[in-house]
Amino acid sequence: MGSKAVIVVGAGLGGLATALRLSHTGHRVTVLEKTDQVGGRNRRVQVGDCDFDGGPTLMMMLDPFRRLFSDVGERLEDHLTLTLCDPSYRVFYVDGTRLDGTPNVAKMVDQIRNLSGERDAQRYGRLLGDLAELYRVSVPQFVQRNYRSPLDLVRPKDIAAVMKHHLLANLARRIEKYVDDPRLRMLFTFQTMYLGLSPYDAPWVYGVLTYMEYGEGIWYPKGGLPAITEKVAELAESRGTTIRLNAPVAEIKGNQVLMKNGEVLTADYIVCNADLPYARRELTKRPIAPKRSSCSAYLLYVDYAGGLPDLLHHNVFFGADFRGNLESIFHEPLRMPEDPAFYACVSARTEADRAPEGHENLFLLVPVPNCDYPISEQDEGGLREAVFGRLKKEVGFEPQDVRTMRTYGPRDWANDLNLDRGAAFGLSHDFLQSVCFRPSNQDTTNPHLFYVGASTTPGNGLPMVLISAELVVERMGLK
Ligand SMILES: Cc1cc2nc3c(=O)[nH]c(=O)nc-3n(C[C@H](O)[C@H](O)[C@H](O)COP(=O)(O)OP(=O)(O)OC[C@H]3O[C@@H](n4cnc5c(N)ncnc54)[C@H](O)[C@@H]3O)c2cc1C
Repeated sequence: MGSKAVIVVGAGLGGLATALRLSHTGHRVTVLEKTDQVGGRNRRVQVGDCDFDGGPTLMMMLDPFRRLFSDVGERLEDHLTLTLCDPSYRVFYVDGTRLDGTPNVAKMVDQIRNLSGERDAQRYGRLLGDLAELYRVSVPQFVQRNYRSPLDLVRPKDIAAVMKHHLLANLARRIEKYVDDPRLRMLFTFQTMYLGLSPYDAPWVYGVLTYMEYGEGIWYPKGGLPAITEKVAELAESRGTTIRLNAPVAEIKGNQVLMKNGEVLTADYIVCNADLPYARRELTKRPIAPKRSSCSAYLLYVDYAGGLPDLLHHNVFFGADFRGNLESIFHEPLRMPEDPAFYACVSARTEADRAPEGHENLFLLVPVPNCDYPISEQDEGGLREAVFGRLKKEVGFEPQDVRTMRTYGPRDWANDLNLDRGAAFGLSHDFLQSVCFRPSNQDTTNPHLFYVGASTTPGNGLPMVLISAELVVERMGLK
C-alpha cells in the first residue's frame, strides 16, 4: 500500500493520535485545527498566575496510552512522568463524613468499615472482583471493536457475556446488591458522570469506570493532562505530520476540505475529529438523526490566594439529593441543580510548579444541563454561590481570596470547540447509543471520510478516544 495523503480535521487527542499512527507508517498527514492550540478539550488554560488542565484531569486506564506509544516504537515512560494519585480523591458528604477513595484495598476496606460497618466492608472484595471481571471481558470484546451493523452483536459469545455479567442491568439498581450504604452506592456509581450519563440511566457495563478508579488507580502526568496531547502532537510532527493552528474548516465535500479562509485542500482520506453531530450538520451538510446528548459542564478556573489544605489533588462533593440533582441535569424539565454535586481539583498538590507559592490552582467542575436549557446569568450566580458556600463550609474557602477567575459553560463548549449543544462529553452513552449503535467511524455516503473522537465509537474519555484512533486506522485499512 502506497503512502496516502490524509487530512485530519481537529487536533483533539483523537485527531492527534490518528495523525501519529498514520504518519508513523509513512502517510502524509496534515492536521487542521480551528483554535490556537492543540488538545481540544484536553488543552492548557492559564488564569492569573496559575496553570490549569483545561478539561480532563484524571488519567485512567493506561493500556491504550501505552499501546499508542509502543505502536510507534516509543515507551510511554520515556515521554511522560506518571505519578499515582493515592488517595485517588477525597469525597465530602453532606452529613459531614469524608472518605479518601484509594486503589489500596486494605485501606479502602477500613474506610468502608468506619463509614458504614462490617457488612459493606466484607463485601467490597466481591464488588471489586466482579468489576475486574466485567472490565476484563467487556473492553476487548465490546469496546475495542469495529462494528459493521447491530447484527455484529448477536454472536453467541457476545450474548453469553451479556447474560453472564448482567452487562445491560441498570447500574444504580445493581450496585444495591453489593453495598447497603447510600453513600457508598453513590461512590461506586457516580463515575458514569465522566461520560455525561446518569448512573440511573446507565447499564451495569459502565461499572468498568469504577474498576478503573478502584482497581487501577488515577494517574497524573507531569505538566498536567495537556502534556499528553502536547507530547502526541510533538511525536506526530517528528514523523512528518504538519499541524496548522487557527485553521478552521468550513466544509468537507468528497475528497476536498474547504477552509474558512477560502483555501481548498485535497486528500485521499479525511478524518474528522470535530464533534460528530456538529461535523455532520455543519461540515458535510448531512445532519444525523436526532440523538441524545450528554450533559454539559460548568467550569471555574480559580487563582486562589491562600491555602485550602483540606483539599487533595482530586475531590468530589455530593449534595443532599444525588438523584434529584441528576434528574435536573438529565431529564425534562431541565433546570440548574440547587445543591449540586461537583468536583474540585488542585493539581498543584501533586506538582507544586503549577501555581506560585501561596496560590491554589483551584479547578471546579459542576455538571449542568447542556444548551437545551439556556443558562441565565442568574443561574450562573446561583451556581457559584452554592459551590462557594459548600467549599466555605467544608474547607474554609473565602470568596474574597479569589484573585482571578474564569468561567466556562455550555455555550463556550459549543462556540469555542464546536461541541454540539454544548454537550461537553459528546453524544450520550445510553445503551442505544453505545457499541454498535453509536455513529460509525466511517461515513456512509462519502468513501473518503472517516470520524474519530468522543462522539463516534467507542465513546468519550481520553482512553476511549485513543481506542477510537486505533479503530479508525483499522477501518481505513491503513493499519
Ligand atoms: C470538563 C471535562 C472533563 C473531562 N474529564 C476527563 C477526565 O478526567 N479523564 C478523561 O479521560 N476524559 C475526560 N474528559 C473527556 C475527554 O476530554 C474527551 O473525551 C476527549 O478530550 C475528547 O477528545 P476528541 O479528540 O474526541 O475531541 P476534542 O478534544 O473535542 O477535539 C476536537 C478538536 O476539533 C476542533 N474543531 C472543531 N471544529 C473544527 C473545525 N470546523 N475546523 C477545525 N477544527 C475543528 C476543536 O477545536 C478541537 O480541538 C473530560 C471532558 C470534559 C469536557
